[in-house]
Amino acid sequence: MTESFDKIIAEIREALNISESEEALRELRARYLGKKGTISGLMKNMRDIPNEEKPKFGSLVNQLRQDAEDAFQKKSAELREKALEQRLKREKIDVTLDRNSDRLGAMHPLNQVYYEVRDIFRKMGFEVVDGPEIELEKYNFEMLNIPKDHPARDMQDTFYVSDQIVVRTQTSPVQVRTMLKHKPPIRIISPGRVYRNDDVDATHSPVFNQIEGLYIDKGVTFADLKGVLNEFLRKLYGQATVTKFRPGFFPFTEPSAEVDATCTICGGKGCPACKGAGMIEVLGCGMVNPKVIEDCGLDPEVYSGYAFGLGLDRITNIKYGITDIRLLYENDVRFLKQFI
Ligand SMILES: [Zn+2]
Repeated sequence: MTESFDKIIAEIREALNISESEEALRELRARYLGKKGTISGLMKNMRDIPNEEKPKFGSLVNQLRQDAEDAFQKKSAELREKALEQRLKREKIDVTLDRNSDRLGAMHPLNQVYYEVRDIFRKMGFEVVDGPEIELEKYNFEMLNIPKDHPARDMQDTFYVSDQIVVRTQTSPVQVRTMLKHKPPIRIISPGRVYRNDDVDATHSPVFNQIEGLYIDKGVTFADLKGVLNEFLRKLYGQATVTKFRPGFFPFTEPSAEVDATCTICGGKGCPACKGAGMIEVLGCGMVNPKVIEDCGLDPEVYSGYAFGLGLDRITNIKYGITDIRLLYENDVRFLKQFI
């Protein structure tokens, strides 16, 4: 009798050895320890056992059941441990791995300064408006009070796509588009690429970036313009920045001004970058010419406004003391790395 018990437990151990999943274990358990399983079946033989041997038989079956139970539990624990080990292997993180920081990307200095400029104007209530780079000559010139014989329209300066279509030379046509489409109050900045037929040198590039600003409402004055630009330049270059508004000329503004700010390289003492003046020209601005307002379908007796335009490349160069505009476009990593 004990021989057949030994055989059963040996069978169970052998089957467990080759079981590799919880499911296989469950099936095996049902086969041996379930209600209709082999071990439970043994108890049915009890009635054939002589009375005096019944206790011994019972205790042997219990022992067998216990041994089988232990074998199952041991195997089950082994499977759990194996699964955990595999999971840990899968999820392993090597904290000593070099993250290769040399290859990290960074924002281009032009973008860094653009986002800074944009945020300063946004906080002052300006909305960002986009415009097309291929523009009607009418919007790029005529409606900005730049007549046909103006030097800015010379073939030398402008890329023409066709007779009446140009690649925009400035972001100012966005002013026209906005005034034609929206009723005042209008308070926008319009950033973007502009194109001029210029040869490349340290201060010129055929493609560069401008940011145009426009504010049109009732009763806008030159004092409003000065206030906004002073605030902008102090936020961008530091609170100690001094500004100077010099009379200037732009066809689409009247009066017009060119604005100088404290040279960031020498802090106002005078250096080669500012040609010893301590101040450096940063942008152009003025009150929108009443003719431009009228051409855009608004009454210049009711509405007035100011506009300003700044070269993003120029103010980026001034901010970082870069003396050659070409560096901004060559994408030399040794240069760009300095702005991470
Ligand atoms: Zn200087």
